[in-house]
Amino acid sequence: MHIVYADADGKLYDSERLQAAGRTAGDITELTGEEWIALPEGATIVSLPGTRALGVHPVTGKLTALPENYTAVGALLPQGFTRLYLPAYFRPSASEPLPLFGYSAVGFENGQFYVAAYQSDDPVPWDPLQYQNLDVAAKVGDLQQRFPQNRLYQHLETCALYYECVTSRNTFFARGEGAIPVSPTCNAGCVGCISEQEADSGFPSPQTRLTIRPTVDEMVELMVEHLASAGPNAIISFGQGCEGEPSMRGREIADAIRRTRQIIQVGYININTNAGNTRNIKQIVDSGLDLMRISTISALADHYDVYYRPRGYSVSDVEESARYAAQHEVIVSLNYLVFPGITDTVEEMDAITQFILRTGVKLIQLRNLNIDPDYYLARVPRRSKPVGMLEFMNQIKTRCPDVRLGSYTHPGTWYGVGRPAPTTR
Ligand code: SF4
Repeated sequence: MHIVYADADGKLYDSERLQAAGRTAGDITELTGEEWIALPEGATIVSLPGTRALGVHPVTGKLTALPENYTAVGALLPQGFTRLYLPAYFRPSASEPLPLFGYSAVGFENGQFYVAAYQSDDPVPWDPLQYQNLDVAAKVGDLQQRFPQNRLYQHLETCALYYECVTSRNTFFARGEGAIPVSPTCNAGCVGCISEQEADSGFPSPQTRLTIRPTVDEMVELMVEHLASAGPNAIISFGQGCEGEPSMRGREIADAIRRTRQIIQVGYININTNAGNTRNIKQIVDSGLDLMRISTISALADHYDVYYRPRGYSVSDVEESARYAAQHEVIVSLNYLVFPGITDTVEEMDAITQFILRTGVKLIQLRNLNIDPDYYLARVPRRSKPVGMLEFMNQIKTRCPDVRLGSYTHPGTWYGVGRPAPTTR
């Protein structure tokens, strides 16, 4: 597998002089055949400014750096694919952190680009290219005309046209999982937050945080519209990349869910949450929630706190929220932020499998952590030697036979669970 690198203009090259390598936390290694897959549709390859590419000499096996006028590259993967290795590089001198993306190792062979990844779910529903030949602006205009007073459709215009966010576009095209962002505030300060970054973080947040506080009427209008028009497996999701923590608006969301279920009983209501505010989460669950996706990076407080910087809650509150939801007919999944060399260590695997078994989580959505690897590694607690991401997945399957691995939220039917008969809880 040939090394791939880029020049200062970002032009890509490959060379048989060095074998492509991958990195897990601090270690650089050559990959086995099964750890490479053909670069999937919708993936992009980017150059990594400030880095020097590293490869393995095919004869000596020695780790070798390319000349300094070339940089390493990384692949950005679409939903459905889990990164197994980071790109192999070092930084000759201090440089700005890379933007908030999940970089994967790249190789080239027989005219084809390869990436160190594993297909963990069906990529089709989340294929970013599904909208490229469609008139998104016209669809946005249609719904804004039908609901001129609803500020949610005005806010989602930016998401659909500029961020090309799939859930916001699904909302305008009445497909699959739709978006309902409602909260400008958050009870955490994630290092890699994509909607709000501290001025001195060194990397901008890719999205601008929501500034409006949608009313319960606006929420109900959008929820009913999406659940009525996007088919029996429609999902409407609170907790989008462009907002803070939705459960900060627990009472209003609970009202909106109850009122929506009085009007329509099909589809699924989901919340993407850090689940730290257990009192509000219980309110939302009791109002008739169907699905909950809890975002986390570790079941260990030292790691969790370093990344989430929680305000007024702890990882044990997250566990209590998960257990309560699972005990009250909500299908709970984890949005597990994974990173080769940390996630696949004994400490992290033991902790997350115990968390899963204690709470009744049904799905692990493997989310490639979007952050500069060196920036992150400089902040997380040291862990023992990693076993590899493929072995990590095998361990989860073995230790938690009732949990599934995937990459995004699925409707109840995917678990063989139809929507419960309409009841008031
Ligand atoms: S929980 Fe979400 S909104 Fe809050 S800081 Fe973390 S990523 Fe940002």
